[in-house]
Amino acid sequence: MKAIRVHSHGGPEVLRYEEIPQPAPGKGEALVRILAAGVNYIDTYHRRGLYQVPLPFTPGVEAAGVVEDVGPEVSEVQVGDRVAYTGPLGAYAEYAVVPASRLVKLPEGIDFSTAAAVLLQGMTAHYLTHSTYPLKPGDTALVHAAAGGVGLLLVQVAKMRGARVIGTVSTEEKAALAKEAGADEVILYTKQDFEAEVKRLTDGRGVHVVYESVGKDTFEKSLNCLLPRGYLVLFGQSSGPVPPFDPQILNQKGSLFLTRPTLQHYVATREELLQRAGDVLGWVASGKLKVRIDSTFPLGEAAEAHRRLESRQSAGKILLKP
Ligand code: NDP
Repeated sequence: MKAIRVHSHGGPEVLRYEEIPQPAPGKGEALVRILAAGVNYIDTYHRRGLYQVPLPFTPGVEAAGVVEDVGPEVSEVQVGDRVAYTGPLGAYAEYAVVPASRLVKLPEGIDFSTAAAVLLQGMTAHYLTHSTYPLKPGDTALVHAAAGGVGLLLVQVAKMRGARVIGTVSTEEKAALAKEAGADEVILYTKQDFEAEVKRLTDGRGVHVVYESVGKDTFEKSLNCLLPRGYLVLFGQSSGPVPPFDPQILNQKGSLFLTRPTLQHYVATREELLQRAGDVLGWVASGKLKVRIDSTFPLGEAAEAHRRLESRQSAGKILLKP
C-alpha cells in the first residue's frame, strides 16, 4: 500500500510517499481502508520531533473510512462499517490497523471527508468547553486563532454554551469567517494589541477563560486578559512552545488557573469517546455545527498540506485523500 513515511525529523520535505506492506489486524484490532485523513498541527510536531515518536513512522492521527477486516475478539465493529477514529498514529496511508475500541461508527448523512474533518477538532472543542472549563451563560471566552481548524468549531460550540466569544485572527478574511461562526467580537492580533482590546471590550474586567492554542507568542498577554480566578487553558503551541514558567505568576495575576490539556485524556474510555463523538457528529448531522474544509490534497502531496497549515494561510480543516 501507499503511505507517507518519516525517516528523519525536519521540514515538510521529510514526508516521503512510499510503498510499504499492508498491515493485518491482530486481537482487538480492525483494518480500516482510509478514504480521508485529517491533517492536524500535532502531525507537524511529530514530523519536527517536538513530540517524539520512534522513527521511521507513518504520521496522521485522524481518519475516516471503511472496515475491511477484523482480528479476533472484536465486538465494536464489523466488516463494511463506515467509521472514523482519532488517536493511533498511521493515518497518512491507504490502510491503517486501529484498536477497534477507538473506532466510532458514522451516522447516515455524514460523509468520510466531513468525518475526518471534524472528529479530532470537534471533540477538542467539546472537551474544552464542556469539561476543562465548562462554559456557562454570562461567561466571556477568548479564543485565539478563531478561524483555524479547532478555532471555527470552538467558537461555534462556545456560543452553543451561551458564552460571549472574543476571537483573535491574523487577517480580515479570517475575521469574517470567525464572525460567521458566531464570534461576538474579533481582534486582529497581528495589527492590534489584543490585551488592550480585550480590556476595552470587557470594560477593563477581563475574560473568564482563554482558550490558548498559539502558545509562545500570546501566552503572557493571555494571562493578563483574565479576570481574577480565571482559567488559562493552554491546549496548543502553533507559534512555538511556551518557555518554563514560574507558578508564582498565577498568584500575582489574580489566583489564576493554568491547565495544559490534551484530547486523549478526555476520550480515554470508550464510553467518553462515544459520548463526545456522538454529540459532535450529531450536531453536524443536524446542521447545528458547520464544518469548513479549507483544502484537500492527494496523499502523495502531504508535504504541501503541511506547508499550507504552517504558512498560517489555512482557515478550517486540511484533508488528505489516498
Ligand atoms: P489551525 O488551523 O488553528 O492552524 C494554526 C493557526 O494558528 C494558524 O492558522 C494561525 O491563525 C495561528 N498562528 C498564530 N501564530 C502562528 C505561527 N507563528 N505559525 C503558525 N500558525 C500560527 O491548526 P489546528 O486547528 O490543527 O490546531 C490548532 C492548535 O490546537 C494547535 O496548536 C494544535 O496543536 C492544538 N490542538 C490541541 C489539541 C489538544 O487536545 N490539546 C487538539 C487539537 C489541536 P491566524 O492566522 O489567525 O493567526
